[in-house]
Amino acid sequence: MPETIYDVAIIGSGPAGYTAAIRAGQLGLKTALIEKDAVLGGTCLHVGCIPTKALLFNAEVFDHVKEGTELGLENTAGVSLNWDIIQKRKQGIVDKHAKGLQFLMRKNKVDVIRGYGKLTGPASGGIHTVAIEGGEQKAIKAKQVVLSTGSVARMLPGMSADEQILTNIEVLSLKQIPKSLIVIGSGAVGVEFASIYKSFGAEVTILEMLPRYVPVEDEEVSKELMRVYRKRGINGFVNARVESVDKTKNGVVVTFTADEKQQKIEAEKVLIAIGRAPRTENVGIEKTKIKVERGFVEVDGYMRTAEPGIYAIGDIVAGYPQLAHSGAMAGIVAVTHIAGKPVKKINRDRIPGATYCHPEIGSVGLTEAKAKEAGYELKIGKFPFTANSRASIVGSHEGFVKIVSDAKYGEILGVHIIGPNATEMIAESVLALEMECTAEELANIIHAHPTLSEAMLDAANAVFGIPINT
Ligand SMILES: Cc1cc2nc3c(=O)[nH]c(=O)nc-3n(C[C@H](O)[C@H](O)[C@H](O)COP(=O)(O)OP(=O)(O)OC[C@H]3O[C@@H](n4cnc5c(N)ncnc54)[C@H](O)[C@@H]3O)c2cc1C
Repeated sequence: MPETIYDVAIIGSGPAGYTAAIRAGQLGLKTALIEKDAVLGGTCLHVGCIPTKALLFNAEVFDHVKEGTELGLENTAGVSLNWDIIQKRKQGIVDKHAKGLQFLMRKNKVDVIRGYGKLTGPASGGIHTVAIEGGEQKAIKAKQVVLSTGSVARMLPGMSADEQILTNIEVLSLKQIPKSLIVIGSGAVGVEFASIYKSFGAEVTILEMLPRYVPVEDEEVSKELMRVYRKRGINGFVNARVESVDKTKNGVVVTFTADEKQQKIEAEKVLIAIGRAPRTENVGIEKTKIKVERGFVEVDGYMRTAEPGIYAIGDIVAGYPQLAHSGAMAGIVAVTHIAGKPVKKINRDRIPGATYCHPEIGSVGLTEAKAKEAGYELKIGKFPFTANSRASIVGSHEGFVKIVSDAKYGEILGVHIIGPNATEMIAESVLALEMECTAEELANIIHAHPTLSEAMLDAANAVFGIPINT
């Protein structure tokens, strides 16, 4: 049998890699998807986006029931959680979608190759060899290679995860709900787990090194989140520098400096949520011309690295947010380019952010500060959910929609939502930015009533000082 030469070999089956594989198959490319783990789906499906959102749904339902008397639900005082069922439900969702991915690979004629993939150097005669460790085959050959090896949780120096010191992996499968949890880091991962475990009854404390939570978001969004978290009883320190994490008989003690004094707090567990490191070591990059900046791979607009025939997508790429949807679209761009079909480069300013804590955050485009830095004269429209009728119906009044628009031409430069369903609502804003919509145009688009999305309409009108509902 002649040796198979694939059109494309993709290393890593997270959302970046599996999306690239499916689209490559759809485009008629002979495709191999190499995965070291027993299951397809990567961080996102197994220990990231999907299981966290499953737990957040439980948390939301539980919160509603706890406040049930207002909704006319009776006998809710003694409501409690069955942790086993919650964990099984979460795992069931993950397993269902992992199976779905296997089906999609078969459907699109993608060969799934088990093992650890490594680059071996430049192509020879236009053909790359990818070494496979721990699999049935020792190597495969491909005309083009896409690297999508993803990321791992960063750890504080000298520490490793165990039963008390947790990363996103351990915190998802705890044997029981901890009585207390310290969360170090208030990015999306940190505030989501803080939200989940607070709703489940834990005493939660956030330690953030920077002056505000969710530091990549608009400052007013951070302020609102901190206000609501305080109201929910989630303790927090900003400008907090963690000095040590020590294990005790029953948990951990974290020593940190905040407000210019050294402080100590104890808890049953600590979650380290200080960001994610790209998985670019030990994959053979050093044998190629691929440029790496602090571990992240540099690419051009089509996701090509500096080594001919090798692309990089997903969490390992420099300058892109480490988000599933960003990696997935990068995968589509890469393989469409490989197939020689026309494709639009990704506009990094149009990648939405979504944080599923309570209240949710959805954002796209420039923050007010970034727009000012870029030299724009601004007109801001802001509308609070307190004045939105659907927010009253769903009993969730926290937050607002904020539209940042250019004063001269009216173009919408950024939208920042904190409040109910913000992660769903943000889709309209992404479309608005993509279509270079002005605030005036948005203010003339009919939004169904009563919807949370009407807050967008009111915020667009607020840009001109004429919102209907405030
Ligand atoms: C707790 C948490 C919640 C999150 N929630 C969200 C969210 O709600 N929305 C969102 O957009 N993003 C979210 N993210 C981020 C999201 O999970 C990542 O952006 C996404 O998984 C990155 O996709 P990827 O394909 O680049 O890498 P990964 O998902 O990390 O997948 C990489 C894959 O490559 C495999 N691999 C690595 N090296 C090799 C090798 N040498 N050979 C073979 N296989 C290899 C790995 O086993 C893995 O399967 C969350 C992350 C965390 C930790």
